[in-house]
Amino acid sequence: MPTSQHYFSKPDAVEQVKNRLFKQLAYYCCALHSFLVFFFWYCDVSFLALVNIGSVSLWALGIYFLHQQRSHIALRLFCLEVTLHSVLVCATLGMAYGFQYYLWTIASLILLDYRLKLKFASMLALGLVITFATLFELFDNVPNTFIFSQWAPYIHFINVLICGLPSIYTIGHIREITFSHRYQLATLAAKDPLTNLFNRRYAKELINNAQEDCLATSRQMCVIMADIDHFKAVNDKFGHDAGDEVLIDVALRLSKYVLNSDIAVRWGGEEFLLVLVNCDLEQAQARAENIRRDIAMHEFYGDTLKVTMSFGVAQWHPALPFSVAVQLADDALYASKARGRNCTTATTPSHTSSLD
Ligand code: GH3
Ligand code: MG
Ligand code: MG
Repeated sequence: MPTSQHYFSKPDAVEQVKNRLFKQLAYYCCALHSFLVFFFWYCDVSFLALVNIGSVSLWALGIYFLHQQRSHIALRLFCLEVTLHSVLVCATLGMAYGFQYYLWTIASLILLDYRLKLKFASMLALGLVITFATLFELFDNVPNTFIFSQWAPYIHFINVLICGLPSIYTIGHIREITFSHRYQLATLAAKDPLTNLFNRRYAKELINNAQEDCLATSRQMCVIMADIDHFKAVNDKFGHDAGDEVLIDVALRLSKYVLNSDIAVRWGGEEFLLVLVNCDLEQAQARAENIRRDIAMHEFYGDTLKVTMSFGVAQWHPALPFSVAVQLADDALYASKARGRNCTTATTPSHTSSLD
């Protein structure tokens, strides 16, 4: 029986990108080192031919671990192979061919081994960079007398290119994933997961901004408080899932009536708040009535269920806190409930008018 911890340990997006990247990389390296075995054999550098046989074996073993979903072991094997290969090739051929740059690439890739503590992974990466610097001290003067020595600048160029690509590819992908995670987190913090309307906490921030805008531009702002009538009976009769579906559908219908500058909020369980920017009380009342009629005519839950809503409308007075307007709209809503529901009541501190 899986535990909740089990679900958490499933590979996330970064882990999946990493595995895919490593698999592609491993097959590519296996093929490249196989080619190098024959190449060095042909060029009479049998030591490096043997080194490449070792490399092919380590990459093949890494592929085995990747298929076993043990990518952390595979990554460590790859790092070991690249380090040994770079050092041995530089010791034999010198630095002119650019095999030392692979140490830079794995110095950044080793940081993707999340099973290693950051401190330890950073120390390993630093060790690889120091090895890179040391290779120049030790092997810069190795005589370059091989039959392929005239190709050294081209091989150097290709190696620099190959070493740069994994870093660009990996960091680019991680950047995209970070952006999309940031967006998801922002949405989670701002939206109610059931209705996808703004949640009450986040809406307060938006309302503050809208208030400042309206003050600066002398625009009017109104509030509609809306509540589903007898919603408890919907749950009782049709079940909680049906109730949820009605809430989603109601939210969708409300969203149809809000403009880009307006704010639609799931204020409580089956209670919604609409903040209408650049709208006076009369217009707000008319808009509430349109929504009320639309909801009352609509068939919910697969055309099997009728639902009505009651509305309270109030205008925000720039000299008063916004909470006063919300309270007025709430009072108006309860006046609508008291009048028998499925109606709209608009109120100002001194006057109340009703529609149904
Ligand atoms: P009224 O006309 O006076 O508003 O009556 P009502 O039944 O709508 O109001 P009441 O406050 O008695 O009940 C609200 C119900 O809304 C009770 C609660 O279970 C239900 N509710 C609140 N949030 C959710 C939700 O997310 N999903 C579902 N399915 N029901 C919810
Ligand atoms: Mg209700
Ligand atoms: Mg309610």
